[in-house]
Amino acid sequence: MSIQDNLQHIKDNLPSDVTLVAVSKTKPADMIFEAYNAGQRDFGENYVQELCDKFPQLPGDIRWHFIGHLQTNKVKYIISFVHLIHGVDSFKLLKEINKQALKIEKKINCLLQLHVAIEETKFGFSFTECEELLKSGEFKNLTSVNVIGFMGMASNTENKNQIKSEFESIKKFKEKMSPINPQLSVLSFGMSGDYPLAIDCGSTMIRVGSAIFGSRN
Ligand SMILES: *Cc1c(COP(=O)(O)O)cnc(C)c1O
Repeated sequence: MSIQDNLQHIKDNLPSDVTLVAVSKTKPADMIFEAYNAGQRDFGENYVQELCDKFPQLPGDIRWHFIGHLQTNKVKYIISFVHLIHGVDSFKLLKEINKQALKIEKKINCLLQLHVAIEETKFGFSFTECEELLKSGEFKNLTSVNVIGFMGMASNTENKNQIKSEFESIKKFKEKMSPINPQLSVLSFGMSGDYPLAIDCGSTMIRVGSAIFGSRN
């Protein structure tokens, strides 16, 4: 199957209010361009250096999503062109994004990453930490970031019920937080192995890599 066929297959079953982010990490620019030519505009990358290498090689109307773990000292390299930062997992990082955005007089869209998986190695806020953050005065002072929703990664398991309950917990949390902050609308969860389930559980943004570009080394 070609990249174009893979994209079409996913889009055939995609509700109109769900955004497909094509995760192109480790894949060369010419493969991204192939997806671009098939109409894809949202792409996700995990590594700052790789994104900075690819950005100038590809069309300017691509919406670049940063979906990896972002180190505070690297925010400045992507701030001028990033469309949405998915993995904001600390207040320190959010403050740095705000600081760099202020410098260039932009407002940057961000998602707060929630830790819902069993694995300790995955990043993100607990629900309690995240709720405290959203309610804090310090958070309200960050006027150069737009926190528009949440991102999560389910456990690496074959157990669909486990994955489902993790996705649903993110959706529930959003519903709980919406009265406090009506801007929260985006739910970024679902990857190649679990995106149909993610959509059923209320995802509005799926991040799909290998099902489009083939497996990674
Ligand atoms: C790599 C990655 C994806 C895509 O994974 P696939 O299984 O290839 O679809 C999605 N989200 C994040 C955060 C990733 O790192």
